[in-house]
Amino acid sequence: MMKHNLIYILPFAIVFFASCNYHQKIEDPKQNALIFARGDKNTTDNFKGEVWVKSLINADSLNETAVGNVTFEPGARSKWHIHPAGQILLVTDGVGYYQEKGKSKQILHRGDVVKCPPDVPHWHGASADTAFVQIAITGREKGPTVWLKPVTDEEYNKT
Ligand code: MN
Repeated sequence: MMKHNLIYILPFAIVFFASCNYHQKIEDPKQNALIFARGDKNTTDNFKGEVWVKSLINADSLNETAVGNVTFEPGARSKWHIHPAGQILLVTDGVGYYQEKGKSKQILHRGDVVKCPPDVPHWHGASADTAFVQIAITGREKGPTVWLKPVTDEEYNKT
């Protein structure tokens, strides 16, 4: 009876394991590592370089906080800007930069977190040679982001 069951199960088992192996081969391992979608390519002039934005949570009357996933290709950066209610950044991949006005640039890696105070001019973006992925959690209760001047190459490259 045991042998009889095995004869039935074996072809299905072979097909199952073969299909698993097939999927592993065709999937891009980098795509596989993404948690949130990359979203759409930014078309505003609030950023320089190639930036992809995926809105995850819109602010509403229940939670006055917006959450978005932002991917910066190497060298891409935001303009200087202000969040009237502050912002929290969670770094999920790559190497990036964060700088507050009057302070030196910080280098950010996967797993780093930043608490950006309300009304403090700052910018963030990818490092020169490595892309950067962040979750931005932004309070909207005091109004939208205020965009300022572009970050110059001199500011961007200063260590
Ligand atoms: Mn910001």
